[in-house]
This record gives sequence, structure tokens and C-alpha cells, in this order.
Amino acid sequence: MPRQMTCPACGEEEELTGERTAEGIAISCDRCGARWPRDTPYTCASCGGRDIRMRGQALTQFSRGTQLSIVGLHYIPLCAECDAEMLARANQQKPVPGRYRSAAAGRGGEDDGQEGLSILPR
Ligand SMILES: [Zn+2]
Ligand SMILES: [Zn+2]
Repeated sequence: MPRQMTCPACGEEEELTGERTAEGIAISCDRCGARWPRDTPYTCASCGGRDIRMRGQALTQFSRGTQLSIVGLHYIPLCAECDAEMLARANQQKPVPGRYRSAAAGRGGEDDGQEGLSILPR
């Protein structure tokens, strides 16, 4: 089944780059710099609902002094039901906090025993 990839930020379909990360394959848009997980669920992992919206998540920026690199927005799926509060917040142009794990992506899944952010690859 072909998977249509579209940038959630600008709608780009061609200039997309896959990148292997500790959490799986991340897709980045070469046009606007947005990033999102390739294996974005089309149904909510918590309730099975199909009303999934992609919203920008704020990433912590690490400045190493020499050069301030612009970190492109990272996009995560939010369920219109389970992530309703966060979705309402995102709809007010407020980025989703970097620590937030969306219910749509399987928040609190049994395969995730880690608290907070995991920076280092396994
Ligand atoms: Zn884009
Ligand atoms: Zn849900």
C-alpha cells in the first residue's frame, strides 16, 4: 500500500528526506524544515479514532555557542478526542510542549518505560 507523504506544515510531497533516529524513522521536509515521525498513526493508539491532526511540537534547542542552528518544527499526531486539550492549545498557535506524549501516538504504551526525553540512542 503506497503511503502518501505530505508535509503537515507546508504540504510538500516531493522534497522529503527520511532519517534514522533512536525513535524510528523521522521525515524532514527540505522545503520548510518541519520534522515528523514516518510511522505516524492514522488511527489513535488510545481510542482507535480516525480524527488525527498533526501539530507542531516545541523542541528544546541546544546552543553550543558557535552557531545557533534553527531547529525545524517537529510535528506529532494528536487525537481530536484523547488529545483534545492539547489540540485546543495548539490551535491557538501555541506549540505542543516537547515533553508531551500524545495519546494518538500511544502515550503510556507498555513498550515505553522511560520517563521524559531520551536523548541518547540506545
Ligand atoms: Zn514542509
Ligand atoms: Zn483517541
